[in-house]
Amino acid sequence: MTMRIGFGTDLHRLVPGDGLWIGGIRIPCGFSADAVSDGDALLHALADALLGAAGLGDIGERYPESRVTPGEASSRYVREIMGDLGTKEMRVVNADLIVDLENPKLGEWKASIRESVAGLLGIDSNRVNIKAKSGEGLGLVGRGEAMGAQAAVLVE
Ligand code: MG
Repeated sequence: MTMRIGFGTDLHRLVPGDGLWIGGIRIPCGFSADAVSDGDALLHALADALLGAAGLGDIGERYPESRVTPGEASSRYVREIMGDLGTKEMRVVNADLIVDLENPKLGEWKASIRESVAGLLGIDSNRVNIKAKSGEGLGLVGRGEAMGAQAAVLVE
């Protein structure tokens, strides 16, 4: 059996708003991600990791802004890419995900995000790991100017 690794990252500017989408979960807070879609950086990083593992390019090629409906749910990208992996008879072994965000702290949301991502990937939640990291007050994340995400997936 061939195993393939994929890696993805994303970064979105934070602007005043009423909440963030992270891994398909709505986090109420005083700002939003600046984006054409719902700005779910974690799902964008995950989508890029899946595309990478499958050798299918990147999310910018697949979903240019001209083909994104304003505010649309980023879960669509992951679902459609998982459909492509299914066609290739590939399935996800596990996903290790990092959210870089200064505030709010994600402790109370991590379990929900994990379940949400596992559902999108069609795997048990014990195959998904969510790590939340602050920026320690440094850089774009630490100053609260941006949220980032990183995703690694293993596909067989
Ligand atoms: Mg993005």
